[in-house]
Amino acid sequence: MTRLTLRALHSRCQKLLQRTDTTLEEVTLSQERAKVTWDKSPTANLQIKVDTDQDGRIQLVLHELVHVAADDALIIVDRVDDELEEAFVESWAKLLWEYVDENSRRRKWWRDQITQKL
Ligand SMILES: [Zn+2]
Repeated sequence: MTRLTLRALHSRCQKLLQRTDTTLEEVTLSQERAKVTWDKSPTANLQIKVDTDQDGRIQLVLHELVHVAADDALIIVDRVDDELEEAFVESWAKLLWEYVDENSRRRKWWRDQITQKL
């Protein structure tokens, strides 16, 4: 398996969002700010839900996509509990957001794609 880099993680997340079977919805969530469900092996039918009143929508979507990408790339998620999964997803999503945010074209790409999906 090739080594997962930040750039590869980014393009993996882009591809996940662009899949025609990926849906993105704004809903009212009570517990969390966003969540994702998906079919595993093969990865399909991502359903991302983002709470209606949240700022930072790109970050929230990136975070949810990292859950899927990490699972997909490393088969790691089944081996750690939710608390540990959340911790590494948050740190990866933070790096990924910095990578997106430092480049206006990348930021625009995410904004446009998210708007299109909603
Ligand atoms: Zn999470």
